[in-house]
Amino acid sequence: MSEERKIPYKIYLEESEMPKAWYNLRADMKNKPAPLLNPGTLKPMTADELKPVFCEELIKQELDDTTAYFEIPQEIQDFYKMYRPAPLVRAYCLEKKLQTPAKIYYKFEGNNTSGSHKLNSAIAQAYYAKKQGLKGVTTETGAGQWGTALSMACSYFDLDCKVYMVKISYEQKPFRREVMRTYGASVTPSPSMETEIGKQILAKHPGTTGSLGCAISEAVEAATTSEGYRYVLGSVLNQVLLHQSVIGLETKAALDKYGIEPDIIIGCAGGGSNLGGLIAPFMREKLRGEKGYRIIAVEPASCPSFTRGKYAYDFCDTGMVCPLAKMYTLGSDYIPAPNHAGGLRYHGMSSTLSQLYDDGLMEAVSVKQTEVFKAAEEFARVEGILPAPESSHAIKVAIDEALKCKETGEEKTIVFGLTGTGYFDMTAYEKFHDGKMDNYIPTDEEIAESLSKLPVVE
Ligand SMILES: *Cc1c(COP(=O)(O)O)cnc(C)c1O
Repeated sequence: MSEERKIPYKIYLEESEMPKAWYNLRADMKNKPAPLLNPGTLKPMTADELKPVFCEELIKQELDDTTAYFEIPQEIQDFYKMYRPAPLVRAYCLEKKLQTPAKIYYKFEGNNTSGSHKLNSAIAQAYYAKKQGLKGVTTETGAGQWGTALSMACSYFDLDCKVYMVKISYEQKPFRREVMRTYGASVTPSPSMETEIGKQILAKHPGTTGSLGCAISEAVEAATTSEGYRYVLGSVLNQVLLHQSVIGLETKAALDKYGIEPDIIIGCAGGGSNLGGLIAPFMREKLRGEKGYRIIAVEPASCPSFTRGKYAYDFCDTGMVCPLAKMYTLGSDYIPAPNHAGGLRYHGMSSTLSQLYDDGLMEAVSVKQTEVFKAAEEFARVEGILPAPESSHAIKVAIDEALKCKETGEEKTIVFGLTGTGYFDMTAYEKFHDGKMDNYIPTDEEIAESLSKLPVVE
């Protein structure tokens, strides 16, 4: 026990120990993630075809399955230093509360104004857009974290930022909207009447509260029809997982400093970027047969892409304007019930994580909304941090695993990703406290209906 205590509550890295290169997990995968396909020809998308939509340097990163390390440009390293290294926290207080022999650690990514890990990729994407001489970028945002992160990154590099925000969040989270406007972004509720695709979606689903899939379509249309603009995406894509590897690299460096080896690594999964980033260096060892970590993705029962979706090519957006991606999906037409983890409402999943999951290299579980908030509250009361609902999915499963250790007496080491803070989610917390939160779970028929519309790809 006394030896135990040598591990501090917070393990910080020195600035000089921060990662200088991102790690590209695909380089070590034997089964590479399936390529993006052109929806017209069904052939892999070429860099030239992606150029009207994405920034050039980011396309290179997107299509590169073999380069293991990409140097982090000095300007991005310097920006990271404003809010990184993120602490790796030993959850001594939670362990005590649970009376578990398990050792619990969490990597806290909420220490910046956007309140989540999204800034790690936003700053990289804004940097490459600026370097290319663009005027601005367009994007979608669900819960608002990505839009906030991107507006911060764009204001830093003096780029214009146009955000299509899922309508339900736009209405539920007016303060998020104002944070984005503070950083100079323009924010439009989606679906909107500003784009052709928005008009079509509204005609087909009148009164819809929107979805990430709709907002993506609108943002892509806005980018491709405005001179000097490109579209950027905050999750799902390979390039985003690449940038987010900074989370895992720092986590691993911090653990290595104290000779700690995790048994279980847990993260919430919306489009898969924080999880893909957190697990990157650990999965590297697993892929090389050096380690046998258990890796668990946690998703909401209301949007269960891994646990109830199908591994197939699908559209990335509702308007079907984006390339096809092979992923675990609920169908691009799937509009999840309005739950309170906006950042986990995407119908699909990163193609890299989808391949790893299909290869049996990671597990997935889905959890109900009220259980997630119960775990969030339990965590907040002992660890102090008020977690984002998305992050609380990981907390819930970390607690479950720690309680299993209590039964078996095993001293497992659990690491989970605490992706952000929940200050803008108090309406959700209020519903939970008032006993008014529901646990909507889609029926098999609803999922089958949406999956019946998958595109046909040989
Ligand atoms: C966006 C978000 C997520 C989910 O996105 P991933 O790409 O799956 O990581 C999780 N937590 C927070 C706080 C978020 O903002």
